[in-house]
Amino acid sequence: MLNNRCVAHRGFSGAAPENTLAAMRLAMKIREVEWIEIDVQLSSDGVPVVIHDFTLGRTAGGSGIVRDHTLAELKKMDAGRWKSRWYAGERIPTLGELLDEVRGRLKVNIELKAKADSYTGLAAAVLKEVALRKMEQDVVLTSFIPDALLEARALAPGVRRGLIIDTRPPDLEQRLEECGCKLLSIAHGKVDAAFVRSTIERGIDVMVWTVDHIRRMRELGSMHPDLMICTNRPDRWQLARKLPEIRERAIWRRWMPF
Ligand code: MG
Repeated sequence: MLNNRCVAHRGFSGAAPENTLAAMRLAMKIREVEWIEIDVQLSSDGVPVVIHDFTLGRTAGGSGIVRDHTLAELKKMDAGRWKSRWYAGERIPTLGELLDEVRGRLKVNIELKAKADSYTGLAAAVLKEVALRKMEQDVVLTSFIPDALLEARALAPGVRRGLIIDTRPPDLEQRLEECGCKLLSIAHGKVDAAFVRSTIERGIDVMVWTVDHIRRMRELGSMHPDLMICTNRPDRWQLARKLPEIRERAIWRRWMPF
């Protein structure tokens, strides 16, 4: 049986609207989920809110960009209806609301969602919410933007950081070192077993995203027991990790008299 740590990408976003409290509650119902990954941006009045796109159209039904709206304006939007009418009325959560929901139950990979020229203040606002709840040991701050990670390091060197990347550049090791990252968050298509093993052996945690196919989940899980699997479908991981055992039980059942 595979025992890799499972990270629910934007919560259980295969079933519930991504980055909402509903998606977090659903993720908590899957025993295998130890981590959630979420995306955080700042509202125009400086509150960290949980939403992936910079624009509001796809998941919040609004127009324009997130950082041009106050929290009060963002809270009026419906972040659930686009997924299903069952989720109509779900709101864009603040980071604080989300942390309160999962505290003590899940660890949180907080992606600092920023552009290279607009990250200032995001790490500080995120770290404040984390510190308020004493969750420093339960989070990792991740980003595609090295400057956002450097800002995080300057403010709270003891809070873990992770670099997100969708390539495998030759100077990867150096890039991780430069921002003091102990986690590499990498597109699953870019890794092989040798790379995963050597990176983990160097003391860097590796998380692969975003894996929704059972066969690929098993391939990746078999590369190294410490490889973290990030998925929209933690229910499929639940199945993938014990697939051989499930098959075996199915065979035995044929020989049983009941
Ligand atoms: Mg993300």
